[in-house]
Amino acid sequence: MKSISALVRKNILTLKPYSSARNEHHGQNSILLDANENPFASGYNRYPDPNQTDLKKGLSKLKNVSPENIFIGNGSDEAIDLLIRIFCVPGKDSILTTTPTYGMYQVAADINDITVHSIPLNEHFELEPKSILREWGNEIKILFLCNPNNPTGNSFPLELVRSIIKSFNGIVVLDEAYIDFSSQKSLLNELDTFPNLAILQTFSKAWGMAGLRVGVCYASPAIISWMSKVKYPYNINKYSLELVKELLTKNKRVRINIDEIIRQRNWLSNQLKFLPMVVKVYPSDANFLLVKMTRSKRIYQYLQSKMIIVRDRSATFGCVDCLRITIGTGSENRKLIKALKSV
Ligand SMILES: *Cc1c(COP(=O)(O)O)cnc(C)c1O
Repeated sequence: MKSISALVRKNILTLKPYSSARNEHHGQNSILLDANENPFASGYNRYPDPNQTDLKKGLSKLKNVSPENIFIGNGSDEAIDLLIRIFCVPGKDSILTTTPTYGMYQVAADINDITVHSIPLNEHFELEPKSILREWGNEIKILFLCNPNNPTGNSFPLELVRSIIKSFNGIVVLDEAYIDFSSQKSLLNELDTFPNLAILQTFSKAWGMAGLRVGVCYASPAIISWMSKVKYPYNINKYSLELVKELLTKNKRVRINIDEIIRQRNWLSNQLKFLPMVVKVYPSDANFLLVKMTRSKRIYQYLQSKMIIVRDRSATFGCVDCLRITIGTGSENRKLIKALKSV
């Protein structure tokens, strides 16, 4: 594959990033008269660390990757947008993805005037090797693969994913937002093998912190340093940094919740299978189930009238008559089943 800098947009290659006051300052207990902050303490009167050094240290330990391999984003959605802006020339370059998949790749591409080519998954939502293992044009800079995939819930075989990363000429973004719910392992400890690989994870799903907006991109230092140059200087607020850092020390608790969600997923899947309106419950490695139903629109509206909100995915490619149901607590899931039994 090409070197990372050969893939970067020319205007980004020559970019002189904004150097914030806090970037240049390293000592502690100083009198801080450099950033036009308010001197009266509120807990949040100071700008947050633009390099997120503490959180990266904590993550580095927990995940066994170096801090130079870590980018912290305002949700992983920030990383998606940044990667497109770093590598894709508006009006000229393209990205490649599968369909169906997570909608933000398309939205971020559209905002940046980047064409999206999508490879249709088959009826089992599998990726056919011959549809993707081929030469792609040089204008296709990024391939987005979501594994486990949203909204389908399934995973692609790791051997296939590895061979795709090896053969692809540009950057491969592997979105592992749901990896903690999966029995398949993350490719995180294979970063060194693949300099063109960027792995996205998030604190929004398994870690239960969607409201804090913290996502992570793990990649080679070459990719990470471009992301750090292009991001807003203070992209993660101080409150989120503190809470997530604290959460890292409670990862055993987080694991207990994940295991409970997986148990609930199995329970819900078994219950749904026997309901008369359910045509198919797709296998899931994530914290949601994609369910094909007869008259899914009516069911969706009926559930809404019972104050149960699910996601209507019936307009999505390959997902005709499908609802996507997030796994709730035991009592929420029982109420869902009870409501469906009384349709
Ligand atoms: C929910 C989700 C994300 C999310 O991201 P944050 O911005 O970190 O909340 C990313 N990718 C996929 C596939 C998702 O489903």
